[in-house]
Amino acid sequence: MIICMRQGAPRENAEHVIKAVSDAGLTPHPMYGTERTVIAVIGDERDLDIKQFRAMTGVEKVMPVLRPYRLVSRESHPEDTIVDFGDGVKIGGKNGICIMAGPCSTETEELIMDVAEQVKKRGAHFLRGGAFKPRTAPYSFQGHGEEALRWMRKAGDKFGLKVVTEILDTQHVDMMEPYIDMYQVGARNMQNFELLKALGKKNKPVLLKRGMSATMDEFLLAAEYIVKGGNSKIVLCERGIRTFCDHSRNTLDLNIVPVIKKMSHLPIVVDPSHGTGSYELVKPMAMAAVACGADGIIIEVHPRPEAAYSDGDQSVTYKTLDGVLDGIHRIAEAVGR
Ligand code: PEP
Ligand code: MN
Repeated sequence: MIICMRQGAPRENAEHVIKAVSDAGLTPHPMYGTERTVIAVIGDERDLDIKQFRAMTGVEKVMPVLRPYRLVSRESHPEDTIVDFGDGVKIGGKNGICIMAGPCSTETEELIMDVAEQVKKRGAHFLRGGAFKPRTAPYSFQGHGEEALRWMRKAGDKFGLKVVTEILDTQHVDMMEPYIDMYQVGARNMQNFELLKALGKKNKPVLLKRGMSATMDEFLLAAEYIVKGGNSKIVLCERGIRTFCDHSRNTLDLNIVPVIKKMSHLPIVVDPSHGTGSYELVKPMAMAAVACGADGIIIEVHPRPEAAYSDGDQSVTYKTLDGVLDGIHRIAEAVGR
């Protein structure tokens, strides 16, 4: 890190800072100018509370040079992480584009069976569907809970699909485990640190969705919690962020895909359904996501979107899904996936 002292700050201020740096086990290299002093600090600053240095008398600014995450950083692990689900389903590296598809909510057994059959026929790898739904209004459909997990497992086993579904509560970690192939941490829980820690103790993959106002560092630090706990099977998911734009539900931040690829070894998938909020935008944004390096796409699918219990406006029908998948496959071929 680099610590800049205020113009004209007395030398003893800088000396206090230098001592604090040494006391913290790092090596200070002061440069005394005619107007101000700059202290370069050699060593790993990530264990320090930088705010303490900012609070010291005479300090103008403190600039960290290291990113705050370690285990998820590309520096610590140069090769791509590949999350292997068995049966040839792998996410990351040079593997093909992983397709996750299903309704927003697992509404009935009949629905999930039908969707599973239809998406499997079209080449999907994962069945998605919410058993526990994080709804803005307490009056909205909240999900069928464990019963829905049973239906999803049955559908996954019958049609040869992996199952991914959202976890809302740390108390459900063990109960959900046998039903699913991947826990989904939703945008609203990206910084539910107790949930992240609980999933860090598991050996089951986690689909970690980006919080709706999370920076990249916050997103990767959330992943760091899980890896630090011992579980490195993480798939990140960009699902759009809140911006001033009101022409779509969220702003799908595809910039983050190549930036994450540079900064981290973890795979990343994109959710053009929540990212746009409109079934018509799913295809172009899914294609764009694959073009910029996404490892997979998660799509909301419903045979009758007008009757869906949740997110009907952004759910594609089977017929529309055909076009979305065709677009994805054409781009995937062009980018060598
Ligand atoms: C979902 O996938 O159904 C969902 C609620 O997504 P998000 O957490 O991204 O809003
Ligand atoms: Mn949804």
